[in-house]
Amino acid sequence: MSLFTQGQYARAVEESTNAETISKVLYPSDNHLEGKLLRLSQQYFLVSASCQSIIHDHMAVYGKIDNLADKIAIHINDTHPALCIPELMRILIDDYFISWERAWDMVVKICSYTNHTVMPEALEKWNEDLFKLRLPRIYSIIKEINERFCKDAWNAFPGNWNRISAMSIIGYGQVRMANLCVIGSHYINGVSKLHSDILVKSIFKDFYAMYPERFGNVTNGIAHRRWLCYSNPKLAGLLDETIGTGYRHDPIQLNKFAEFADNKEVLDRVRAIKHQNKIEFSNLLYRKTGKLIDTHSMYDVQIKRLHEYKRQLLNVLNIIGLYLDIKDNPNADFQPISFMFGAKAAPGYYHAKRIINLIYCLGKEIENDPIAKSKLAVAFLEDYNVSMAEALVPAAEISEQISMAGKEASGTGCMKLMMNGAMTIGTLDGANVEMLAEVGKDNMYIFGLTSAEVDDLWQRGYNSAEFYTCNQKIQRIINALTVGFAGESFADIANYLTKGPGIADPFMCLADFESYRMTHDRAVRDYANKEKWNRMSLMNIAGAGFFGADRSINEYAENIWGIKRLTDK
Ligand SMILES: *Cc1c(COP(=O)(O)O)cnc(C)c1O
Repeated sequence: MSLFTQGQYARAVEESTNAETISKVLYPSDNHLEGKLLRLSQQYFLVSASCQSIIHDHMAVYGKIDNLADKIAIHINDTHPALCIPELMRILIDDYFISWERAWDMVVKICSYTNHTVMPEALEKWNEDLFKLRLPRIYSIIKEINERFCKDAWNAFPGNWNRISAMSIIGYGQVRMANLCVIGSHYINGVSKLHSDILVKSIFKDFYAMYPERFGNVTNGIAHRRWLCYSNPKLAGLLDETIGTGYRHDPIQLNKFAEFADNKEVLDRVRAIKHQNKIEFSNLLYRKTGKLIDTHSMYDVQIKRLHEYKRQLLNVLNIIGLYLDIKDNPNADFQPISFMFGAKAAPGYYHAKRIINLIYCLGKEIENDPIAKSKLAVAFLEDYNVSMAEALVPAAEISEQISMAGKEASGTGCMKLMMNGAMTIGTLDGANVEMLAEVGKDNMYIFGLTSAEVDDLWQRGYNSAEFYTCNQKIQRIINALTVGFAGESFADIANYLTKGPGIADPFMCLADFESYRMTHDRAVRDYANKEKWNRMSLMNIAGAGFFGADRSINEYAENIWGIKRLTDK
């Protein structure tokens, strides 16, 4: 009030403004660490509030702290809430006067951790000095956790300093949150079989040697009541009529739809529904952008955050190849295709924004080419978000899941599109591997290097030149990038693929290009065979039940949290 009367209005509200800043923004980067101190404060603020609330509620119900570990489960969903481990220790020791040993037993029983990525640039590491300054008590607790852990690790691997130093929570002036999560949790899982296997063979291999019983897998799932029943009411209606409504609360029952795989009437309705959804999406696109797309073209969709490892660029290279083919042979038969991209790039992710720019310019050039425009369309959808995805997923015919194998922990977009009858073209990465197990190779277009082959090639020293010097198509595409589209050169992207800086083409677009091109071409040819395509589409819908989140959540509840459903269904 006194500052206010002195006319210092900003200073008068400074304290409350600063307090509000802590929870003002959701950091928008994905699979990339934003090492800002405000983010660390935010994580601690949210974690501390949650832990205090949980314990407050527990005390209100039970009136004692002793049974906390029997009644409470806290799941650390990625490392962002990792500070709940030291925060629980703080509350139990400082506020409830529990011994370190007992408190630690309780915390490990309470906590479990899901890892979401193996990419080093996404693994949370905080500068030790900043951490100590901002969170002194939490830092001292982490130091103690670490010292005790390193003693145990010494007993497990006597003399093996390299191993212990890799497992340590603190090292090289950094606090490593993933290590803290593993040490403080009774169960650790990845989000697909492949990803969980990679975890225990790579970043957590030393922890796996020490605590093998802590590691497992829970393959991700999607909310099928949103991504099928709500977003695609026409398909849901057909399912109600054919297999009954049981799938709505038990998605595994979608497998009954396979009984209609040779029923011509049902197949025709699957196709008609897809066509209607395509019309509805094109209307939406027209309203939003004024862009008209041919509803008889094949809808080829890549919707996901923009990231190098997801390889939107590989998709673009193939589109450029198709565009050059059309210019060479303007009269050749060509199945019209509309390529749709939905993506947002993290602020400051320069290369990602260049790829958006490339997609936009390529689309513009094709639109201005009287011959190409009747056969190809390339649309970059602005403001990609869940609502946009809900409109596009039911309309998609090709689902692009083309990450460099070993990098996409699970993916869930792949499941949404599969459940809505799109055909997947994809690498053997993340959940794609399990989708293949559900539908078989006749109902999915798999291409490219496996994750073992990627590792192998990387170890030998990946040289993208080996892939373009012998491939004229790639050379022409790289040249076209340098010349540019709609008046803008993309020589920087051509250099990224062929020269570097650093290792050229770090996500191996060129190594997978030929396999991708041929597989995509096969999918386009199959599309002409309507009966075959409809059947494949139906088999994908029928095979998607495993990817309902109900199954994932049940696995967490039974195997990790130790909780039972309230009533039998
Ligand atoms: C499902 C979904 C994602 C995840 O897509 P992936 O292909 O698994 O990366 C991203 N953004 C939105 C809006 C989604 O709905």
